[in-house]
Amino acid sequence: MKGGESLTHKVCTNCVMDTSDSKITFDDNGVCDHCNDFYSNVQPNWHTDQKGRDQLLEIINKIKKDGENRDFDCIMGMSGGADSSYMLHLAVKEFGLRPLVFHVDGGWNSELAVHNINVMIDKLGLDLYTEVINWEEMKDLQLAFFKAGVPHLDIPQDHAFIATLYNFADKYNIKYILNGGNISTECVRNPMEWLYYGTDMAQLKDIIRRYCTIPLKTYPFSSVLRHKFYLKFIRGIHVVKPLNYMPYNKEAAMELLNKEYGWVPYPQKHFESRFTRFFEGYWLPKKFGFDTRKVQFSSLILTGQMTRENALEKLKEPAIPIEEAQHEFEYIASKLGITTSELQMYFDAANKSYKDYRNSESMFKMGAKILKYLGLEKSIKR
Ligand SMILES: [Zn+2]
Repeated sequence: MKGGESLTHKVCTNCVMDTSDSKITFDDNGVCDHCNDFYSNVQPNWHTDQKGRDQLLEIINKIKKDGENRDFDCIMGMSGGADSSYMLHLAVKEFGLRPLVFHVDGGWNSELAVHNINVMIDKLGLDLYTEVINWEEMKDLQLAFFKAGVPHLDIPQDHAFIATLYNFADKYNIKYILNGGNISTECVRNPMEWLYYGTDMAQLKDIIRRYCTIPLKTYPFSSVLRHKFYLKFIRGIHVVKPLNYMPYNKEAAMELLNKEYGWVPYPQKHFESRFTRFFEGYWLPKKFGFDTRKVQFSSLILTGQMTRENALEKLKEPAIPIEEAQHEFEYIASKLGITTSELQMYFDAANKSYKDYRNSESMFKMGAKILKYLGLEKSIKR
């Protein structure tokens, strides 16, 4: 363990976030700012009762009416994960929407993810639009992030997803994006030092310029200026998060998916990608001391889906068992076309952060402040 534990290690008394998030602050009762932000800014504006239901119905009617003469009335990405799978179920079965469903194949789909995507698409009688990322380019970009030594190794996958989403929305002239993001399981956000913005083009370009060895000719790009400003305000594309307007219990949702579709649960959030599993379950906690389970469990604690005791108990065990971690380490290296000793070299290299490369953090912060001021965003990622 290189990061994490220290003499002043302190855990929130209400959730399981701790000083591995270096910007965390605690009040007199030892309750962290994630918790306090949730109680004072998020929870009061979060309506999962009839009020939320009515608001959502209004939005759905608008989506349907607006999409009447179009091939699709909305668009959504399908990773095969629980949130997107449940949202797809709701969109088609409950709301009667006609989404364009796309999947980005970055080369890391777990077999389970492929199974889960297929059973749902089949049973719902939909077409799946799959964007396959050129593997040579993907591999080179992922290696560039390893070489850069930053924690946010998932940006090549995340960015491709976001770019593909907006490219499809733009191409098919779709006005509504369904997003599985939700307060219920994600009210605590990953700190910026753990997972930096995937759409910061300055950062992405700087890392590409320094470490990529081949030109990225087909990899999909989308800058935040394009999709948060141009596509949103000029083209009028809206993002809707249906799961925020109703009670969303992850366990119950997974049970329903399993019963209706034969969908099989993953051992941990984001484990639908074998790369993300390795990255969040091994690399991030071992190299940097950042354990994303703390964020996920804390969200579930705040929304009453997990006890703090249970979370603390689970955190005692590594996300990926040690025996398996070795095997995954070898798999990742071989898939990326490098030796395990090269991968080990990146692991042992100095830890860097987004601040070590060009970035547009100030622009992102200003944008977030404006959105919060306008009431469009309740809480700020920090
Ligand atoms: Zn807390």
